[in-house]
Amino acid sequence: MEIIPLVIPFPAEFGRAGKGTNSYLVKGSEKCIMIDTGLDGEGNRAYINDALKRASGGRLDAILLTHGHIDHYGLASYLHQKTGAVIMINDKDSCYLDAYEKSIDEWFVRIYEPAVEGGFSKKELDDAKMMMRIVARIMNAPKEYTTFKELRLDLDGWTVDSIDLPGHTMGSVGYVVGDAVFCGDAALDGGVNVLDLKEEFVTLQKLKIFKKVYAGHGKTPLGPQDLEALEGRFISRLEDVLRASRQGATLKEIYEKVYFESTSNPYIPYRLVHPLNQLISYLRYLESEGYVAKSGNRWMSFSEKI
Ligand SMILES: [Zn+2]
Repeated sequence: MEIIPLVIPFPAEFGRAGKGTNSYLVKGSEKCIMIDTGLDGEGNRAYINDALKRASGGRLDAILLTHGHIDHYGLASYLHQKTGAVIMINDKDSCYLDAYEKSIDEWFVRIYEPAVEGGFSKKELDDAKMMMRIVARIMNAPKEYTTFKELRLDLDGWTVDSIDLPGHTMGSVGYVVGDAVFCGDAALDGGVNVLDLKEEFVTLQKLKIFKKVYAGHGKTPLGPQDLEALEGRFISRLEDVLRASRQGATLKEIYEKVYFESTSNPYIPYRLVHPLNQLISYLRYLESEGYVAKSGNRWMSFSEKI
């Protein structure tokens, strides 16, 4: 069994130049599977075709998605048509493939009310939503795919098992091969966009039992020490939120303190929506753990340390 890591760059229109998605080919003696695909685009198609040709003579049996975000399934539809590979995703995240635009709307439903109440203008939010929908529309979502609750695949004597890793999305999974796991965005580097922080902390604990954790972006594979560091960054972000709301602050005031760099260009959707989503997750977590309380439209923290 051989693991071939690939980095699939974000095309320019995605607005995050220089970034990319980690995608992996896992090859047995004959069969070859791919874990996450990265975003679609002419350059990326050529790159994947070439990588596949070298790895398996072009054979691809399955595409396993760690979760339903567009930067992980973008090329899946193209690869399915070209190779016949079956696309598989946890049933809790398949809603993203059915209607990504709808899922963007749901994101906005989640943040809209607290954001408007917290000092963001409706126009600012509507503009961000429109831009995200435009990006979603140019992406090609797979129409034929298989969902699972639990997955076990046989790869020429090797098995691939799914493991639930909710937090980043509620249907995020990892794929376990031997002592390694491919975890998608379940181990993001303290960046943005966790739907449920409580679940995410449990997920990070689960990941620590693996020797190698193949992540969806940035450094990979990660070891237990990297996961400790990652957990530490979540804690320090939570403490940033606590400090920002020490004297009582609106959502917008906290956002501007915690994501200071992001606000220099708020009209790039990912620089408004994802941090806002994460900030709401942070505040909900802190509220449920008794660190903050909300009065009117202001959040107030009771301490600066977790
Ligand atoms: Zn993601």
